[in-house]
Amino acid sequence: MYDFMLTHEERALQAEVRRFVREEISSDFLRRMDRDEIVYPREFVERLAERNLRGIRFPKKWGGREMSWVAEAAANEEIGCLGMALGCAFVMPSIVGEALNVFGTEEQKERYLKPYLEGKLVAAEALTEPRGGSDFFGATTKAVLKGDHFIVNGQKRFVVGADGSDFFLVYCRTNFAPDAHKYGRLSLLIVDNGPGVETEYHYGLLGCRGGGTGRLVFRDVKVPKENLVGELHGGAWCFNQMMIPERLTSASGCLGVWGALDLAVRYSNRRAAFGKLIRKHQAVSFMIADSITRLDAARAVTHMAAKAVDSDAHNKRRIVSEAKKFATKAAWDVVNDAMQVMGGIGYTDVYPIERALRDVRLAMIWTGTSQIMDLMIQHEYYNEVLNEPYDRRHMEKDAMNPDESERCFTDDDMWRVHESGPFQAMKRPLDNKN
Ligand SMILES: Cc1cc2nc3c(=O)[nH]c(=O)nc-3n(C[C@H](O)[C@H](O)[C@H](O)COP(=O)(O)OP(=O)(O)OC[C@H]3O[C@@H](n4cnc5c(N)ncnc54)[C@H](O)[C@@H]3O)c2cc1C
Repeated sequence: MYDFMLTHEERALQAEVRRFVREEISSDFLRRMDRDEIVYPREFVERLAERNLRGIRFPKKWGGREMSWVAEAAANEEIGCLGMALGCAFVMPSIVGEALNVFGTEEQKERYLKPYLEGKLVAAEALTEPRGGSDFFGATTKAVLKGDHFIVNGQKRFVVGADGSDFFLVYCRTNFAPDAHKYGRLSLLIVDNGPGVETEYHYGLLGCRGGGTGRLVFRDVKVPKENLVGELHGGAWCFNQMMIPERLTSASGCLGVWGALDLAVRYSNRRAAFGKLIRKHQAVSFMIADSITRLDAARAVTHMAAKAVDSDAHNKRRIVSEAKKFATKAAWDVVNDAMQVMGGIGYTDVYPIERALRDVRLAMIWTGTSQIMDLMIQHEYYNEVLNEPYDRRHMEKDAMNPDESERCFTDDDMWRVHESGPFQAMKRPLDNKN
């Protein structure tokens, strides 16, 4: 985000995080992450906690800073240049914490949210199953209430922090009635990493390495019923709430590709071809122009989405989905063009553009694919236009010749026009048969 978009307090946070990113994270640490030598970046989490940089939006009572969504997005943009896995470790408190803060009991906040924001606990969210992530409400991991415990059985796939977390937020099916509505089937549980919880598979990932991404298996795990978050069978509400930080953090984290863009800018100002700096070749400098335009457009829609959530706008879900879709694609294009500007050397590990490219590809897939964002965006917009109240001008009235007889939408309309107009004698094909 640009300074002029931010309040004084938000600018101060941005500057603080910028300094942290610049001065406190070594290149060697990033290399070890990318080599998967780090199972989970706990050290990074602890450093953030020491600086009170976890849970930026949450109440001070639980260890947060009670700041705005805009502030958090500005901080994410700075962290984003460190790559997907550290970006994910940075934003996970925003996602897991959202469910605990909005739906959790005081006891849950004391026991989980507070130590989580203090960096004493690490958590992950477990939504996706091997059977599918997009069709979230079809989840099959079961939690059966027996006395004062749930018994959880099932598995979750692609969980960042499957290795390294102390507790998981797990969506489980709790309502087994055959006619249960899909929004009334699931519940959200806090599952401690303990007996019956295993990480059975570690994924070999294109990017986002060092984050402990694995498949979690739950076998007869006893979860106290006090660990239910929100209502029994009310998981859909928690999911809807968590999707806001999920998607807005994906969008704002992707703005961190300024790091790759700036690297390409500096490179093109030093590298020469055909006797001049490559930036003097218009084809190169126009790629830079396209990239910064894309990145600014992504910043704008992400800022708008953050503002929409801060002000609880009625269309915030649509705008957040737009930001997620647009910023993740823009980020991919920016990094891809940064590699193009740098030519062959950009494709090697002499520069970290190849890592940025491997990392950023994930953003169009996780936290809801771009196709699922499209489903959301069009659905919400159809509702906004077609449902009352709609208080804008209806433009169809402004045609030069608004002849209703030519406004034909269906077969029925066509025959209605014929029957009431000069062709009354014409009969519908079906009628002709009689
Ligand atoms: C590295 C990594 C980390 C992840 N971290 C986590 C995590 O921490 N926790 C977690 O729970 N999950 C996590 N995920 C899971 C991620 O959110 C899912 O992969 C994602 O939601 C897509 O689900 P899927 O892979 O099952 O693909 P599918 O749902 O099988 O989709 C496959 C394709 O079909 C398309 N598609 C599906 N349904 C529709 C539809 N109705 N209309 C149009 N197109 C459709 C999709 O867009 C996609 O192109 C992670 C994934 C990866 C790769």
